[in-house]
Amino acid sequence: MRYARQVAMQEIGKDGQEKLAKAQVLVVGAGGLGLPVLTYLACAGVGCLTIVEDDIVEESNLNRQFLYTPADIGKPKGALARERLAALNPAIKVSWIGERLTQANAAPLVSGRDAVVDCVDNIATRLLANDACLRANVPLVEAGIDGFYGYVFPVLRGGACLRCLGYAEIASPKSPGAIGCTAGVIGSLEASVCIRLLLGMPVAPDMLTYDGTRMEFENVRIFRNEGCRHGEG
Ligand SMILES: [Zn+2]
Repeated sequence: MRYARQVAMQEIGKDGQEKLAKAQVLVVGAGGLGLPVLTYLACAGVGCLTIVEDDIVEESNLNRQFLYTPADIGKPKGALARERLAALNPAIKVSWIGERLTQANAAPLVSGRDAVVDCVDNIATRLLANDACLRANVPLVEAGIDGFYGYVFPVLRGGACLRCLGYAEIASPKSPGAIGCTAGVIGSLEASVCIRLLLGMPVAPDMLTYDGTRMEFENVRIFRNEGCRHGEG
């Protein structure tokens, strides 16, 4: 009954719901983007969610990280997220790795997943996820937010990657601004792309940009840089 409204969808049906139940997804980060991603994947019945998160809850997280409360300040985000997602949907398996994504753990963590969803705030971790996913041929859903702006971009083998976009040459921007509604928009889009990938549905290779000051979305075609080794070399 929980999934009746999804099974009723032409794009999902019983077969699609079974695909979701068997899916293994790694979500890197359980913050502003990670929580809407995790919440919607859990509610939709994605069978196995693994959270990579080593951070603790701070008061300044609470304007956007809606699974955490003032009583959680100082506690590990991953443990709290795992507990609350399991309560939202007891039928799925949620596990938590209390580490950062690193050069050493990226390959084993990505291996065997049906998709990885990147929900982090720095370039170095994005590149680690980019390279590990391309090497393992695991689709990656990448996204970022800044104030009222955001983007979502799927990194798929054979297409453009974050290195093609020049991410290896730029420093992580230090933006102190963040608002929950933008994280909600972009995190929901990441979950949507992830679910489409799990169902075997086509995903446009474009970067979808969001401008919340003008309420505009735009599809930006990103071309593969033939000189890029896409982390595979
Ligand atoms: Zn590339």
